[in-house]
Amino acid sequence: RFKDRRNRERRGATSPATKLLYKYKQQLTLTPSQITKLDSELQGQIRAGLKAEITTNGLHMLMLPTCVSQIPNGEETGDIYAIDVGGTNFRVKYVRLSAEKSKIESEENFEAPIPKDVMTGTGSALFDFIATRTLNFIMAHEGGQSLEPPLVGFCFSFAIKQLSFNRGILLDWTKGFTCSDVIGHDPVQLLHEAFERAGRQCRVMALLNDTVGVLSAHRYLDQNTCVGIIIGTGTNAAYVEKIGSVKKWSAGPDVDPNAHTIINTEWGAFDSSSLPRCEEDWEVDAATIHKGKYLFEKLLSGMYIGDVARRILLRMARDPSCILFGSKASSDPLIPVALTTKEGFPTSALAKVVEDPGMRPETMARILGVATMSVEACDVVSQVCHLVAERSAQLIALALCAILRHTGWVQNPEGPLTVAFDGGMYEQFAAYRTMIRKAVDEFLGASLGAKITLELVHDGSCVGAAVLAAAATLEHQN
Ligand code: BGC
Ligand code: MG
Repeated sequence: RFKDRRNRERRGATSPATKLLYKYKQQLTLTPSQITKLDSELQGQIRAGLKAEITTNGLHMLMLPTCVSQIPNGEETGDIYAIDVGGTNFRVKYVRLSAEKSKIESEENFEAPIPKDVMTGTGSALFDFIATRTLNFIMAHEGGQSLEPPLVGFCFSFAIKQLSFNRGILLDWTKGFTCSDVIGHDPVQLLHEAFERAGRQCRVMALLNDTVGVLSAHRYLDQNTCVGIIIGTGTNAAYVEKIGSVKKWSAGPDVDPNAHTIINTEWGAFDSSSLPRCEEDWEVDAATIHKGKYLFEKLLSGMYIGDVARRILLRMARDPSCILFGSKASSDPLIPVALTTKEGFPTSALAKVVEDPGMRPETMARILGVATMSVEACDVVSQVCHLVAERSAQLIALALCAILRHTGWVQNPEGPLTVAFDGGMYEQFAAYRTMIRKAVDEFLGASLGAKITLELVHDGSCVGAAVLAAAATLEHQN
C-alpha cells in the first residue's frame, strides 16, 4: 500500500490537481508565525472578556460567568432529570447520583432529533417540543405521578448571560437555530411556561452550557479536570478560573476570590485575520443563517467542515485543468452529485474517509455515490478531507493551549491536568482524536503534553446538568 501511494505521488507530482492541492495545503496549514499570533490573540480575547462585558457581535469570545461558586466535588446526590438542547438531538436523561462519592447509580435516556422546522420556528413551539417530550419521559419513568415536582437540570448549549444559577438570558443563536422571541429572554422561564401549558410543573434547578456540563460531569469523577470542550455540531470550551480574576462578575462579598468558578468561553466566536482559511470557508459562512458570526466555529465543527471539504473538491473538479472525474470534468454531469449538492457531503462522510487513509477507489466511489473513481481522484479526496480535519484539530489544540497559558498551568504545571471532551466529532471520529492529541503534544512539547489527559465523557452535558442541579439542591438545603 505504502509503495503504491509513493508511486502515485510521484506520478502525480506535477499534475494540476497536485498544484491545486498544494495551494490549499499552504492556506490551511498553520505556520509557526500564525501559531504565535493566534496564541497571543486568543489570550488577549480571554483577558479582555474577563475584564468587561463584550458586545455580542459573534466575533469575540464572550467569557461568560456561570454563577458556579462551588465546583462539583463528587459529593452531589439526588434524582435528577437532565434536559439537553442545542445540538442535532434533543435528550432527556434520568440520573441518580448515589450517596456514595462520585458514583452514578442509574441512567436512562430518551433521544430525538429536533426537526428543522422546530429549529427555525417560534420559541414557544421549541419549548413546547421540549416540555412535552420531557414530561412524557418523566411520566413513563415514574410509572405514576409522584407528588413532588421533578428536579431538572437544563443544559441549553448556546451563549447565555447567566443571571443566577438557574436563570439567564439568551444572547445569540448558533448552529442553525433561529427560533423567534427567545434571544433576550430567559430559557428557564420559557421552559416553565411550556411545562405549565403541558399541565405539570418541574423545578429547574440549574441552567448551563454543555461545556460547563462536560467539565462538571468529569470533575465529579476526577478533580484534576480543568477544561471541558465540546466538538460536535458546534464547538466551545469552559474552564476553571479563579473567581478574583473575573473582574466583570461579583460573586458576592462572602466569596473567597481565590475560590474557583467556571467560565464559558464561547470560543466559537473567536476571530482573527491570522486564521488559516481558504475561499471556500467564506462560501460556507455566506450559506449560513448566522453569516459573518461565529467564524472560528465554522472552521472547526461538525456542522460545517464536511461542507468546506465538499466545496474545495467541487472547485477542483470544476477546474478545467484538473481532470478528477472523467474527461470533461468541467461539466457538472460528471461530477458526483454528493459534491454538487448542499449537505451532499456531511462531516460523517469526511470522517469515514479520514479514518481509512489507504481507502480503495471503489470504497470512495460508494461514499460519493458514483460508479467508479480513478486512483488519483480517490487520493485527492482523501487528502482534502485530511487537511480540513487536521486544521480543525490543530485549532482546537491551539485554543486549548491558549487557555492553559492564560491560567498559568503551562508556565507552572502544579500537577496533572484532565481535559474532558464531548460531542459527536470527538466521540465518533478516532483519527480526529489522535490529531488533537498530536497537536497538543506538538504545541506544548512532549513532556508537558504527557501531563495532560484528554478524556471522552459520554453524555457529559446531561450528566453535568444532573450534577449541577444536585449541587443546587444541596445549597438550598443548607
Ligand atoms: C454555542 C456554545 C456551545 C457550542 C457546542 C456553540 O454554537 O454557541 O454555547 O457550547 O456550540 O454545543
Ligand atoms: Mg450536545
